[in-house]
Amino acid sequence: MHELTSPQDMHAWSRAERSRGRRIGFVPTMGFLHEGHLQLVDRARQRADRVVLSSFVNPLQFGPREDFASYPRDLARDRSLAAQRGVDCLFTPEVQAMYPTEPLVRIAPGPMAEPLEGATRPGHFAGVLTVVAKLFHIVEPDIAVFGRKDFQQAMLVSRMAADLDFGLEIDIAPTVRELDGLALSSRNSYLNADQRRAALALSRALRAVEQTWRAGEADPAALQRRGMEVLKAPEVSAEYLALVDEELRPVARADARTVVLVAARVGPTRLIDNVVLGEGVASDVPVRGS
Ligand code: AMP
Repeated sequence: MHELTSPQDMHAWSRAERSRGRRIGFVPTMGFLHEGHLQLVDRARQRADRVVLSSFVNPLQFGPREDFASYPRDLARDRSLAAQRGVDCLFTPEVQAMYPTEPLVRIAPGPMAEPLEGATRPGHFAGVLTVVAKLFHIVEPDIAVFGRKDFQQAMLVSRMAADLDFGLEIDIAPTVRELDGLALSSRNSYLNADQRRAALALSRALRAVEQTWRAGEADPAALQRRGMEVLKAPEVSAEYLALVDEELRPVARADARTVVLVAARVGPTRLIDNVVLGEGVASDVPVRGS
């Protein structure tokens, strides 16, 4: 596995591979890899000849009171997991290399970034899209794989790639979950044993909404109430539970394509999760060997 830290070297590596006719698959991450990230690598592998994985904790997408400084990092472990999973090139730039000066020009994410995560985390998606745009220019992938776990982000990246003619395919992978339903996340490492149990409230709430919908309820307000009931648990403080369409607009009636999105704090840790009603939590991928 190659390991590169300079954007110039990364660009040159990709250019050389592409000039030999190889398709590049790209998986951008913030590191502290888990099986959710590694399944994105598997998908990239299926669709490309070379897989690049970036690990970069992007300061631009964190608010001043968020966890940029304490975000979990373990490069040695990431290196070994990426190599075992067949990543061809691991790109781990320093903040200084990505942002030698404060970027004055940023991507404006538009109305899809306003509700939900965008309402709770002002500036978050401008930071995400700006770094993703930079990474796309550096790596020049043919295909980039994102997780549905971060649904609003995946929709925004897809729209950015289409609206701004990035000329690459965005592939969106299902959420990988622990066997008990908890969506894998690097931030799960913040949870103590009680909080780990309490965190199941998120996937349970989604499952309750899905079951209520399958039983015939299509009124989004009634479904939202049902989800919020299940979300009420000790240590859990709900931020939102919303039923939206693919452009993040509230739906008038829930159908199979409706997405239910939830965000809550479990103790101090902020977690998010979602389900597409017609697919269900059960259709997501359970983590192997846990
Ligand atoms: P992160 O390192 O959290 O920024 O995530 C990097 C990529 O991995 C994003 O496209 C996420 O949506 C994706 N991802 C994170 N957790 C999961 C999961 N449990 N299942 C599938 N994809 C995930």
